[in-house]
Amino acid sequence: MADILTVGSLAAARGQKLCGWLPVAGASIRLPLTLIHGARPGATLLVTGGIHGGEYPGIEAAIQLARALDPATMSGSAIVASIASPTAFQARLQYRVPEDGLNLNRQFPGRATGTVSQRLAACIMAELAAHADAWVDLHGGDIHEQLEPFTIYSAGAAPAVRGESARLAAAYGIRYVVESDAVRGGTYGAAAAIDLPCILTEAGGVGQLDPAAQAVHSRGLQNVLRALEILPGAPEPVEPVTLLRTFQVVTSAHAACWYPVVRAGDIVRQGQPLGELRDYFGDTMAQIAAPLGGVVLYRVTSLAVDTGDPLVGIGAEDRGD
Ligand SMILES: [Zn+2]
Repeated sequence: MADILTVGSLAAARGQKLCGWLPVAGASIRLPLTLIHGARPGATLLVTGGIHGGEYPGIEAAIQLARALDPATMSGSAIVASIASPTAFQARLQYRVPEDGLNLNRQFPGRATGTVSQRLAACIMAELAAHADAWVDLHGGDIHEQLEPFTIYSAGAAPAVRGESARLAAAYGIRYVVESDAVRGGTYGAAAAIDLPCILTEAGGVGQLDPAAQAVHSRGLQNVLRALEILPGAPEPVEPVTLLRTFQVVTSAHAACWYPVVRAGDIVRQGQPLGELRDYFGDTMAQIAAPLGGVVLYRVTSLAVDTGDPLVGIGAEDRGD
């Protein structure tokens, strides 16, 4: 590892911590960035929060991690981008980047000459992921989503990369772990394509800075740093993983009002009612049933849903295809 950790115009000497900004080329956006370059050589962990600007516990866990890490105790380094979609954060937007209306976590690996979201994704890959040996991407239920905590990583990575992602997922300490590529254009899929172990971790939701969810992320980050031997000591013991190999998102076929009857964490069987879509006069448009049995990992809580919007995400232990 180089004696200087350089990201953009920031250059941290060994044993140094630096805060600054990473400008996104071709966009009026700069990312808050902390480089913590450990006193001794070792692996480099990338931590991103706020890819979705309304997922607050992960954002706060990233901010607090960047403040707490002491390079003198570290063998290796951490690169922390606490709010990776700052204009979405400031606008309190769910899913979308305000400049182009796109979901940043569907634009990876991005395009350096594309829209703002695509440039953001390309910047994160070229300036941040390129320096990392592992990546933790912090998420949660969005402002209008209630969520059961889970961790997800790519099933399509090379075996050694997938194995390392699985090891980090188990260390993070969230019971439900999803191994899937059902969602395209996300961080962990782009990481898999460059052989970078990556986990996307989900805790919290419905627009709350929930201390318990923040603690899930904070403990997970500490455990991953220990599992990578960047921090000394063994990871804290955690509960065993329930591995889910199927992840299916039920979407709305209508712009409608949404009345869910399940909650995150519920176990549902195939065909069980999940909720109902009604028009603006209260007439039923569609009954929504579970397409498969499994655990409800999240449900949308807003009355308003648009055509194509997610309603419920279900994880299942058996491969559904
Ligand atoms: Zn998210």
